[in-house]
Amino acid sequence: MIQSVKSIPAFDIKQQYTTIRAEVSAAVLEVLTSGRYIGGPSVEEFEQQFAAYIGVTQCISCNSGTDALFLALRACDISAGDEVITTPFTFIATAEVISALGAKPVFVDINATTFNLDIEQVAAAITPKTKAIIPVHLFGQPVDMSALMDIANAHNLLVIEDCAQSTGASWQGQRVGSIGHIGCFSFYPTKNLGGCGDGGAITTNDDALTAKLRMLRDHGQKHRYVYEEIGVNSRLDAIQAAILQIKLRYLDLWNHQRRAIAERYHKSLSQALGIATPQELAEGIGVWNQYTIRVLDGKRNAVRSRLQERGVNTMIYYPRPLHLQPVYENLGYQVGQLPVTEQACDEVLSLPMFPELSEEQQDQVVYGLKDCFI
Ligand SMILES: *Cc1c(COP(=O)(O)O)cnc(C)c1O
Repeated sequence: MIQSVKSIPAFDIKQQYTTIRAEVSAAVLEVLTSGRYIGGPSVEEFEQQFAAYIGVTQCISCNSGTDALFLALRACDISAGDEVITTPFTFIATAEVISALGAKPVFVDINATTFNLDIEQVAAAITPKTKAIIPVHLFGQPVDMSALMDIANAHNLLVIEDCAQSTGASWQGQRVGSIGHIGCFSFYPTKNLGGCGDGGAITTNDDALTAKLRMLRDHGQKHRYVYEEIGVNSRLDAIQAAILQIKLRYLDLWNHQRRAIAERYHKSLSQALGIATPQELAEGIGVWNQYTIRVLDGKRNAVRSRLQERGVNTMIYYPRPLHLQPVYENLGYQVGQLPVTEQACDEVLSLPMFPELSEEQQDQVVYGLKDCFI
C-alpha cells in the first residue's frame, strides 16, 4: 500500500521567508517610513556588502540579471558587427542581450559532464570579430575559469561572467563574478540570493567601467540633468536592497545546506541504473541552484510523469537549446550541430532543490526515482 504523502515542490521560496519573517518585516518597514524608496542608504549599503562578499571593489546594482548582462555589454561597447561567444545551454537572457545590442551570439557546445561551455571549442570559435565571451556558471557550478581566462587573455577578449545561478560559488578559492572583467548577478526570487521581486547586480574591479555602468543605468546621466549617452532606467529598489542585505547574511548557510542535499542525492543516486548524476570539478565549489541529473535511454519524459504521480515535482532546464530557437533561425544553425547540448536538452531533469528540503523529502525523491527503474 502506497501511503499518501505530501507532494514535494521543485523549489519553495515561501518556506525560507518564514524563517526570516521578523527581520524582513522590520527592514521593509524601516524603508517605508524613511521615505527613500529609490536609492538611499539601503541600496548603497547593499552594494558595498555585496562587493565585499564577492571579493571585488565595485558593485553596481540594477533592476534584473538581464539588465546586468545588457548594461555590462553596453559598457564594453559591444555593438553591431561584434561577435560574442556563449553557451546555447542557458536561459535566453544570456544571448538575448547580445542580440539586443545588434551583436551576434556565437554558440559553442558544452562539456557533457559539467553542462558548461567546452573551453577547447571556445578557442576554436574565436574570429577577428570576437569581442567578448559570456561563460555561464550553470546550475551553480563554476566554469573552469583558469582555462577560460588563459584563452581570453591570449586573444585580448573581455569576459563577462553570467553568475545568475551561482551567487557564492568559487573557482580555485575566488568567488565567481570576481574572476572575469565583469560579473552579472540576478536576484530573481528562485536564485541562490533571491529578493522578493526583480533585482540584479554587476561586479567589477574596473573604475572606468563602474563609472560608465552607473551612468548607463541612470539614463546616461553623469551630472544632474546632463545626459552623455542614451541610457536606461535600471535600479534596484530600496525595499529589495533592504531584504537582500538580510538574505546575504544567510547565503553561505543556505548554500551549505544546498551542498549537503547535493551530497546526499549523490550518495543515493550515483550508482542507480538509468540515470547519471552531476559531477563537480575538483577546483570549483558549486552552489547547486539546481541538482540536474540525466535520464538515459530516452526515458526522461516518462520518468518525469511517474515522479509527478508520486508527488515529486521536477523541472526541465532547458528543453530546447538556444541555437535551435525560432528567434535564432536567422543564425542558420542546424539540428545536430551542437550535439552535446542537444542531447542534454533531451535528458536533463532537475530534482527538487532548496535549502529547506528535508531529509525525508530527499528520500521520497530518491525512492520515487529508483522506483521508476524497477
Ligand atoms: C535568471 C537568469 C538570468 C536573468 O536574470 P533575471 O533577473 O531573471 O533577469 C540570466 N542568466 C541566467 C543563466 C539565469 O538563470
